[in-house]
Amino acid sequence: MQELINIIENSSENSSENSRRPSEANEFAPHGASHDSVTASGARAFGVDVETFANWRWQMKHQVASRADAERILTLAGAESDGFEALQDIFQSGITPYYLMLMLPRPGSPDLPPHLHPIRLQGLPRTEELKDPLGVGDPLDEVGHSPVREVVHVYPDRVAFCVAQLCPVYCRYCFRKRRDEETGLHFNRAIIDRGIEYIASNPAIKDVLVTGGDPFIASDSALENLVARLRAIPHVEIIRFGTRTPVTLPYRVTRELAQRLAKYHPIFVNTHFNCVDELTPEARQAVANLVDAGIPVGNQSVLLRHVNDKPESMMQLLRGLLRARIRPYYLFHPHRVAGTEHLRVSIRTGINLMKKLRGNITGLAIPTYILDTPSGKVPLTPNHILREDGDDLIIEDCRGEIWREKGVVPEPLTEMTLDT
Ligand code: SF4
Repeated sequence: MQELINIIENSSENSSENSRRPSEANEFAPHGASHDSVTASGARAFGVDVETFANWRWQMKHQVASRADAERILTLAGAESDGFEALQDIFQSGITPYYLMLMLPRPGSPDLPPHLHPIRLQGLPRTEELKDPLGVGDPLDEVGHSPVREVVHVYPDRVAFCVAQLCPVYCRYCFRKRRDEETGLHFNRAIIDRGIEYIASNPAIKDVLVTGGDPFIASDSALENLVARLRAIPHVEIIRFGTRTPVTLPYRVTRELAQRLAKYHPIFVNTHFNCVDELTPEARQAVANLVDAGIPVGNQSVLLRHVNDKPESMMQLLRGLLRARIRPYYLFHPHRVAGTEHLRVSIRTGINLMKKLRGNITGLAIPTYILDTPSGKVPLTPNHILREDGDDLIIEDCRGEIWREKGVVPEPLTEMTLDT
């Protein structure tokens, strides 16, 4: 906790940033005007004014990390009750007050039991995490693919640069849980210097994904400084951020931050919504701040049991993403990370889900279903080709009907053989 407070307090070198603490007024405070909004109900539940509740630093300093703190707001049930204590030495817990409020029944949403609640399952530690015979610590062997500390280099032209360690919410299925075992990785000066040096000395690297942890958990100045250093490397063409703050801490994604990053275009953001209930007005405001600054926002979901593994829930999410101007990009098959057996689903479930999407939702909304492996991403696609029949192809269309596409099996005539 002390490390967190130091980072939040000291990472701002900019005096205008400092002058707005601790009750930084921003464009999210007006969301408190609606009595039912997360901001208004959260401010009431936590006994603060809406400006304070809408302040991202206040949210980080008041992360809910114990059973006692969670029970001030929620009634914990079954496997949740013992989760905080049982997991404390295995994978830390921490939930922003904002995200915790999404675990309460919301107007217009069904009141689901905890073991079927898509947000509780993602954020609250559960004792099932202790039982997972197949789970491993580093399912993508990222350590083995890191030529220097925290730079994961799998593909020749791009790297993942893990500058951050802290997160607004410690997602229970995170595939980088292993980084929790050590402290001091968050915006560590030596790690950043070495990473920049590695990227600068490898001209093949065109694309840098800044990730973590959550890299938006730093001051605007620290982020701008990092981006400016990357942009100064001539061969780096695009800079991407992987951040879950629009979902778990939307107040962090201010217009000012977006505009500061936009000075270094092309900048892209990939975020990580997993269910439609996460697309609150506050979350949509965070995304709008980025998109209005010309920063394209894509979404990477993880396919999770009882969170988004049903076609209806996935389609609601995908439609909601497009309405919020977010492009669905990847749907990851769940990584075989330790402590997640209760959240994993089979590949068959994923393929069947993808099959249901095609034909029932616009192609713009359909993400690529991905199996992530240590040597790279493998797209998993429903097979619509049944067989070849002479020169014809027999396929199953998206409604399950059989179609014969004539004359497509042989190579088409080349220009040389066409009649003139
Ligand atoms: S925000 Fe990302 S890095 Fe942080 S715990 Fe969640 S999945 Fe892991």
